[in-house]
Amino acid sequence: NLSDRLALTFKKLKGHGKLSESNISEALREVRLALLEADVNYKVAKQFIAKIKDRAVGQEVMKSLTPAQQVIKIVRDELCELMGGEAEPLNLGGKAPHLFMMVGLQGSGKTTTSGKLALMLKRQGRNPYLVPADTQRPAAIEQLKKLGAQIQVPVFDSDPAQDPVDICIQSLAGASRAGCDVIILDTAGRLHVDLELMAQLERIHSRLHPQEVLLVADAMTGQDAVNVAQAFHEQLGLTGVVLTKVEGDARGGAALSIRAVSQVPIKLVGVGEKLDALEPFHPDRLAGRILGMGDVLTLVEKAGEAFEAEKAEAMAKKMATDGFTLEDFKEQLQQIKKMGSLEGLLSMLPGAGKLKGLKDMQPDEKELKRTEAIIDSMTPAERDNHQIINASRRKRIARGSGTSVSEVNRLLKNFTQARKMMKGMAKMGGKKKQLARLM
Ligand code: GDP
Ligand code: MG
Repeated sequence: NLSDRLALTFKKLKGHGKLSESNISEALREVRLALLEADVNYKVAKQFIAKIKDRAVGQEVMKSLTPAQQVIKIVRDELCELMGGEAEPLNLGGKAPHLFMMVGLQGSGKTTTSGKLALMLKRQGRNPYLVPADTQRPAAIEQLKKLGAQIQVPVFDSDPAQDPVDICIQSLAGASRAGCDVIILDTAGRLHVDLELMAQLERIHSRLHPQEVLLVADAMTGQDAVNVAQAFHEQLGLTGVVLTKVEGDARGGAALSIRAVSQVPIKLVGVGEKLDALEPFHPDRLAGRILGMGDVLTLVEKAGEAFEAEKAEAMAKKMATDGFTLEDFKEQLQQIKKMGSLEGLLSMLPGAGKLKGLKDMQPDEKELKRTEAIIDSMTPAERDNHQIINASRRKRIARGSGTSVSEVNRLLKNFTQARKMMKGMAKMGGKKKQLARLM
């Protein structure tokens, strides 16, 4: 799958010291193959690669990251961008009632998604109203009524002999009587995009002017879903896509290319048959998942969350001026505890792999408490300048903190190592801003 494939590519890149045209090209060839194997539209893949190449060879190189990390970061940013960047919420603006129209091929999940959406809106404090406007299939009206009963949402009593346009128009009065503020129209589908269906949907659309026209598309159909999205968008002007059956879609081609090809944002994803299996679509999270979790970049981000920007800035300044003290060390360990693993953070720093004893610095809860106790047992002068901590002071600190001299020794060794490394980092990074961002 895509994420394994990329992981392998990035592993290969890790050996290189610097990003060059040739090793970028090699990596990008792999990324391109991986995208095509994931059933991403070939034009989208081509543009994607060109963009990444531009950025990788260009100026946007963070000195604090290794080549592999740089490429991963760029790929991730661009993946996110490809899928629309930010999560796009449903449009519930303007005056109620809000009219939502669900469209899509037969079997894509329109009726199920209508029920899921009603439940989601209900949980958000809205009063949804379901309208079965699929007179094509005999059981379609019953199916939606059943779903409505399950989630206790009123369903318009459609007459299957009527024209779907009339059903939709009449349902407005029904919704108003029921005191509902969001009306969900579940329309008919076909096995393929056909003119008769489009004409019917267009008639509903032009009479009712729904504020959301949501295409329900089956993710498992890959590039077909992308083509369907484009066809529906040209005819109706979609406002969003709901991608269904995403939980069974290992390849992810539709999710990756729908936005790029049709310009329509994916707003929601269906992740199961149950009625609560509907989620907002977060491009950044999907990009993260595609690249594999536990990834270096996730650590960079976690670090960013754990450290408040101000503290990081101050810390970076200290590192650069060699003023990093045991007090700072203590605070830093606490921050690192927040983000889980020190080893993970340090291993992404250039040159950190060569340092021994990193594992010892892995702060499990107990270890961290002892470390804090040791530092707390030092005098302010000692905390400010670790070089004055001689043998007799070490003995006193050990006694005061209920630890041993060897533990105090180990902490001081770890501290000096960290200090050295940070000084190096500060020099390497040059600009403090970059460091602050990394932290
Ligand atoms: P419609 O013809 O477009 O109205 O499609 P339906 O709502 O009747 O759904 C067709 C089938 O897809 C049903 O068996 C649903 O349970 C199933 N389905 C819908 N959404 C999802 C989803 O997100 N995940 C899975 N696994 N199945 C889904
Ligand atoms: Mg249906």
